[in-house]
Formats: sequence, structure tokens, C-alpha cells
Amino acid sequence: MSKLKKRLEELKTLMEKYSYEYYVLDVPTVSDAVYDGLMRELKKIEEDNPELIDPDSPTQRVGGQPIDGFKKAEHSHRMLSLDDVFNRQDVESWVKRMDKLLPGTKHQFSCELKMDGLACALIYQNGSLTQAITRGDGTIGEDVTSNVRTIKSVPLNLRRGRHTEKFLSGRTEIRGEIIMLKKDFENLNKKREATGQPAFANPRNLAAGTIRQLDPKLVADRPLQFRAYDLLRDNSEDVPTYEFAYKIVRELGIACNPEAKIFENLDEVMRFIDQWEEKRHELPFNTDGLVIKVNDRKLYAELGIVGKNPRAAVAYKYPAEEATTIVKDILISIGRTGAATPVAVFEPVVVAGSTVQHASLHNADEIARKDIRVGDTVIIFKAGDIIPQVERVLLGLRPKNSRPFDMAFELSRQYKELEFIRPKGEVVYRVKGVTGPLLLKRGLEHFASKAALDIDGLGEKNVGTLVDAGLVNDLADIYMLTKDQIMKLDRFADLSAQNLVDAVAKVKQPGLARFVYGLGIRHVGVQTAIDLSKAFRRLDSLGSASLDDLRSIEGIGETVAESILLWFDEPENQQLLAKFRALGVWPQDVKETGGKLAGKKFAITGTLETMSRDQAAEKIRILGGTFQASVGKDTDYLIVGANVGASKLVKAKNYDIRQLAEADFIQLTL
Ligand code: NAD
Repeated sequence: MSKLKKRLEELKTLMEKYSYEYYVLDVPTVSDAVYDGLMRELKKIEEDNPELIDPDSPTQRVGGQPIDGFKKAEHSHRMLSLDDVFNRQDVESWVKRMDKLLPGTKHQFSCELKMDGLACALIYQNGSLTQAITRGDGTIGEDVTSNVRTIKSVPLNLRRGRHTEKFLSGRTEIRGEIIMLKKDFENLNKKREATGQPAFANPRNLAAGTIRQLDPKLVADRPLQFRAYDLLRDNSEDVPTYEFAYKIVRELGIACNPEAKIFENLDEVMRFIDQWEEKRHELPFNTDGLVIKVNDRKLYAELGIVGKNPRAAVAYKYPAEEATTIVKDILISIGRTGAATPVAVFEPVVVAGSTVQHASLHNADEIARKDIRVGDTVIIFKAGDIIPQVERVLLGLRPKNSRPFDMAFELSRQYKELEFIRPKGEVVYRVKGVTGPLLLKRGLEHFASKAALDIDGLGEKNVGTLVDAGLVNDLADIYMLTKDQIMKLDRFADLSAQNLVDAVAKVKQPGLARFVYGLGIRHVGVQTAIDLSKAFRRLDSLGSASLDDLRSIEGIGETVAESILLWFDEPENQQLLAKFRALGVWPQDVKETGGKLAGKKFAITGTLETMSRDQAAEKIRILGGTFQASVGKDTDYLIVGANVGASKLVKAKNYDIRQLAEADFIQLTL
């Protein structure tokens, strides 16, 4: 079996179990967000591989087999599910899909709260309630008439109103949601706890469990409510729009889905969605989003059904605080104090409104406790709404060949060059013999090195002196050094202190590639820094790049991309960048290609007078040109400095390459 097919089967098996617990037992073991996350993955696999869709898939079948003990009853029209949408873009795509089928049609939309209960169809014959059927599997439901008769908001006889005449004769079906109000749920649970019984999970499951009790007396003791959202007649022309349906239902004396509104365009719809995002928590009942429907019922019917969903309606789900995703890798990041922190890298997923690509797993004990492995499907949530955390692993989706995460082994694999220790009684592994100051010293030497910011006077010894004196605690601190502070140190005198301050001040706006290289991001060497600076042009753009953005750049592989992502995600590093910015230290943006030297290739021979080779190379790159370390057939210009090497000149002549004196080169760059 292919890997994909296996995944599909595993997803279906697990979702079937969850569905059974939710619809039949009324005792869910995972949140709706988790179920929806798995559904999304399943849908994506089926969309990409339609040959794998089978009629038993949870994407095709309305969940919830009718349970034994009740008479079964068939629905006049199938009771359906709704496709989910999560943002404006999804809503727009939904409208586009409808436009393809009905080109040129301008729709009105009915927007309604999506009440979180269970669906039920009430059948009235000549105005009297004759039957109540749960949704069941959409085609066949449970006949719960005696139980529904105990719900006070379900009239046994419909009322007469100004426009109701037609609806009081023949068959009138009113569909809606059976719900329990939040306050009734809390009261009931309090009573149960007082008598030592386990509390119910949520109002939805309690309502669903109650209506399917075999003893109507028990149902009558639990306060359920009915809110209508649909009206059906044998002749569909009796109900031209949803707006009309709600008006009639109210006149017939049945409470309707409150707050339903008609809108003319998507801007209005989106405004309504925004309005309810917070306000819905104040409602007396739970909602799991909004429903958007095409108001015109003829068009609604024409648009038809795909799988188990009507094309003409969608459920808008507000950002969930939980989601499911796959752990693609577990990387270990070394902080400035030498502490090793394992970090999970995920398939990107939206949690509480933003995309999450990784989360700290804290330490080896925590990973062992939750038994998180590479390849696992996990539930993630945002702690305090900001920091993503792994809640637990969905064991039903664990790959057969997975192995427990071995921190010691991974440290030696990922950091061949370092040795680690785990001090007695501590959970954290640390780099052996390395203290915070030592790492800082190395980092600062690197930051000041020739290929990075090229700061004179910040070699190993001076860096050591500055760090040991406590004057420099991070890379940005060098920009705050004053001559007076430095002069007091042993290794410095008046002139050398001034020179250092000047040298640092000169590089407040370094080239982007140098700065990125200087930050010391693991796996980012000079060439990678150049590739990144060309691709992103601004540090902010690099900092907000996704894993896919990074991977799409030539020369940047998975490991490098992940390492960059981790670096920018580290709060300490974000603080460092904010400090640089506050101090007016920020790399220059790389000009659009099309800069003065765009498309031209330069090589240098000899020593330049007014700038170093690195500075000249930087200038060439900033202006869109390419710097070559040696002369080649494709070189356009050879910049000739003092003490010229003969071989390059001969080569240049052979290839007919234009030679530029330093002054000519400067002229070209102005
Ligand atoms: P759905 O989300 O597809 O929506 C259709 C239902 O919405 C209707 O049947 C009706 O009951 C209800 N509804 C409420 N207000 C409405 C309105 N104004 N207009 C129309 N319909 C309205 O429902 P579903 O098919 O039961 O879908 C699955 C839902 O159940 C998801 O939210 C899913 O997360 C949840 N679920 C959870 C688990 C779990 O284990 N936690 C398992 C299975 C399903």
C-alpha cells in the first residue's frame, strides 16, 4: 500500500472512532478543532487524489448512525452537513465555485449563527406535530417524537398568523437545532457533581444525549430548546427564500435562529463575521461559527450537493485554539548560555489565527513524558494565546517504524563538533565547558570578522576584555560603548579607544549579506547570506519568511531553512534585533535588480586604495552586479588596483575583458 493510502486509511479509522464517540455515545474524546484538523487533511488528500475517495469516507457521509432502541424514520430530503471555511479567501473561493456553475448570478446571502446542538426535523401535518426525527446519517434518523414533545419551545400545534394559511394545511417540515442553554447546562452539572456523578462534557453532547434517552420523563427534566433554521414544503415554491422561511416560522410560533441577516455582498458578510467573533461568547448558547447560505432557494437547489454538503451554504469557523499537524523533525537549538533546547518542526498549520511552524519541546524529559517522535501527528495549542505547545500525540496515526526521540544521540548527530553534559539533577543538556560569556565572545568575534561587519579592533583579545569587563552583554552593546568606558580597560589607551568607537560607528548600516552572516545563524555561511540578501532584500522580509519561502531559494536546503526559521523565532534574537533597531543599527536594503551594475560581472586584481576588496564586492552586489573571485570568460570588468598580479591581466586580455582603474569603478557606482 502506498504511504499516502496508508495515511488515508489511518485517518479514516481514527475519525470513525471519534465520530462514533461524538454522534452515538455523545462523549467526544477530542475537541472539534482536532476533528476538523483531521478532516482538513483527509479532504486535501482526497482532493489531490480523487481516485482514493470512497463513499464510506467521513468526507462523504453525514456522521451519526441512528442508535437502536428508537424507531428509525426516513427523511423527506437528506439532512446534510456543511463545508467549512476559515477566512475571507475561503469565502471568496466558495462564491467563485458557485459563479462557475451559475455565471453572472448575483447572490444575496443569509448569515446565521451556527448553533451547536443536534439537528432535528419536526413534521407537522395540518398544523399538528406528528413526528420528530434526528439527523442520524442524513437519510435515516431516530424517531424521537415523544422526547421532543417534552420540549417547551416546540409547539404541538402551529399558530395562525398573517401569512401562515398555506402552511397549516398539508405537510410542513421545520428543521432546526436542539440546544441546551449555557446556564441550564451549568446548573445541571452542579447538581450532578453534588450527587457524585461525573459532569457532562459540554451542552452539545448533553443535548444530543438527552434527546436520545429512551425515557421521556428524564428528557422533560432536562431543559432543552429548539431553534429553527429551515422550512420545507412538498411544493418548494411555497418557500422562495430563507428570509421568507424565517418570517413564516416565527409567525407559526417557533423560535428561529436569532440574528439571521440578509446581505448583498461579501464585504457585508465579512463585517457580520467580524462582529460576532467576540460577541458570540455573550450569547446564551454555544455557537461553533456562522452559516452563510444563498438566500434564493431555487438557486440553492440548482447548485446541488457535493458529497455530504450543499454547494450553496458553508459554515464559517472562527480561529480555533487547537489544531493537528505532523512533526517533520526535531531540531536542537543551542541558546546563548549553551543550553540545548529541542524544537519540533511542523507541517505549517493555522492555530488561533496565525501559522505555526514549530514549537519548543523544552527538554528531553518533556519529550519522553509525552513520547513525541518525528513523524507523529500531534495536537498543538497556543499557551497564553501566543506560544505554541504540543498537547499530545495522536497515537492512532503514529508511523509503524517510528522510534522514541533520543536526545543524547541527536545531540551527537546534529552537533558533531560539540560535547554536551547534563548536570546532575538538571533536565537540560549543556555544551560542555562553554559558558554564556564564552559563546558571546565567539559570537562577537564572528560579528566583527572580515567577512561580516569587518570592524577593526574587535579581535579575540579585545572582545575578551570587553565581555569580561561586563561592558558587552550582547552584539548590540558594542554600539553603546563610549570612549571613556573603553579607556578605563587595561588593553586600551586614548587613541585605541577612539579608534574602536569610530570603527563601530562606521558600520551602523552594513550590507545586508554581511549583517545576516554576522548574526551567526547556524548553517548560514557567506554564500548563503548573499543568496538570502539577494532573495529577500530586506532583513524584515527575511525575518518573516516561511519555511517554504526559504526552501524555494536556490542553494537553500531544508536544514538551512529550518535553522533560519528557528533563529528568527527565538525571543532572545527578536529582542536583539529590536535593540539594534532602537540603536539605529540596521542593514541596508538591497536595491532591486535593475541597480546600476545589474547583470554585470566584476573581478578585482591588486590592492584597492579607497576600499577593501570585500567592500568593493559589497558595493557591486548592492548595485545589482555580481562579484567574481577570479576572472572568467563571462567577466565583464576587471578592476585593476595596485601591485597587480600578471596572470589575471593576461587572462583579461585573452578574454577581451574591459579593465577599470579604481577611479573608473567608483565613477560607475555613483
Ligand atoms: P456541520 O458542521 O457540517 O454543520 C451542519 C449542521 O449545523 C446542521 O446539521 C445543523 O445541525 C447545524 N446548524 C446549526 N445552525 C445552523 C444554521 N443556522 N443553518 C444550518 N445548519 C445549522 O455539522 P456536522 O455534520 O455534525 O459536522 C461535524 C461537526 O461535528 C464539526 O464541528 C465537528 O468538529 C464535529 N465533530 C466532532 C467530533 C469530535 O470528536 N469532537 C467528531 C465528529 C464531529
